[in-house]
Amino acid sequence: MQYHYVCSDCGTEYELKPNLMLCPDCARSQDRDQPLSGILEVALEGEVGQGFAIHDLLPVEKEYFPSIPVGASPLWGPEKLRTEFEFPNLYVKDDTGNLTGSFKDRASILVSAFARKYGFMDIALASTGNAASSMAGVGAAAGQRVTVFLPKSVPRAKIVQALQYGSRVHKVEGSYDLAYEFSLEYSRRNGGLNRNTAYNPLTIEGKKTVSLELFRQLPKTPDSIFVPAGDGCILSGVYKGFKDLLALGLIQTMPTVYAVQAEKSSAIARAFQSGSFERIPAETLADSIAVDVPKSGLHALKQLKKYQGRVLTVSDREIIEAQARLSAGSGLFAEPAAAAAFAGFLKARAGLDREAQIVLLITGSGLKDIDSALEGVSVPEKTISSVEEITG
Ligand SMILES: *Cc1c(COP(=O)(O)O)cnc(C)c1O
Repeated sequence: MQYHYVCSDCGTEYELKPNLMLCPDCARSQDRDQPLSGILEVALEGEVGQGFAIHDLLPVEKEYFPSIPVGASPLWGPEKLRTEFEFPNLYVKDDTGNLTGSFKDRASILVSAFARKYGFMDIALASTGNAASSMAGVGAAAGQRVTVFLPKSVPRAKIVQALQYGSRVHKVEGSYDLAYEFSLEYSRRNGGLNRNTAYNPLTIEGKKTVSLELFRQLPKTPDSIFVPAGDGCILSGVYKGFKDLLALGLIQTMPTVYAVQAEKSSAIARAFQSGSFERIPAETLADSIAVDVPKSGLHALKQLKKYQGRVLTVSDREIIEAQARLSAGSGLFAEPAAAAAFAGFLKARAGLDREAQIVLLITGSGLKDIDSALEGVSVPEKTISSVEEITG
């Protein structure tokens, strides 16, 4: 298989080079309040059969990948929810079991392999929390030095993970968007590889593996996939995987992708209606999808329009209720951003075909943000001194 980059805005092709991040022409006039222009997509040329290995479709050779459990995540049918909602072909794609507990490991492992191939020892990035803990963990496995920039509101478990993995952690006086700027400046000054979402083309490319796996795991191309969206990079990755499969002639149809955003962090949903992006400070307890200006916004929007995707917004209340309902209905405890995918399904289900093959992308573990999860349950205040007190 041959790989090169294609600019998602102007179509210019580039060789896959270690320090090329965005299309230099399109990125030149980047406005701070707008999503990234000139995102590079990896294009592949060649042929594979139905029995391809996932590594056959990745632009870094297998030997450079640290050997850790990332991807190949389980797809399973939550029986009780299937019965309760009468959707017999409802599935969860459960990415909570990746090395660091989130979907982000799919991007981190490809970036790590790329860094190893090209001799980078240092990787820096900004993150709402999961990308940082993910890159820190994967970097630890691969023996790479990782520097992370986090918003000051980062959930404790995620910063603890990043610290446990031995990365250098900086909290910025502001939001994720500020952390993003700082990490870019840091990489410019310090060298090394930057793993910022959407900026580094391998982040979208790494995330595509989920679609390749779904192709393998399901009897046919899924009808609908619910994807939580902040920066829109997972969304772009999900599309990328299916676009590769279409280009290789392995599937004939694109699934309907539902982008689910938090009501108060809904830049992609707003732009889907209005056609333009504006900076409005994000405010949601689903920290992993709290983004003012979505970095992959333009790119994700293009895919949604081209392939008739849908967008939905859900309130924090709906997210917290969906989280508890998913936990109690399936045994899968998801963090709020991931539970947003289920909240989106709950909202859209009246309009869905009951026989359809529907996938909920569950992107992160609930244990990553206990404080938010506490809002959906009530902890007993009283202790008991005997069992009689509760059995009467
Ligand atoms: C990062 C993340 C998302 C959102 O991904 P984007 O690429 O920012 O849209 C959703 N859920 C979880 C758990 C995440 O960590």
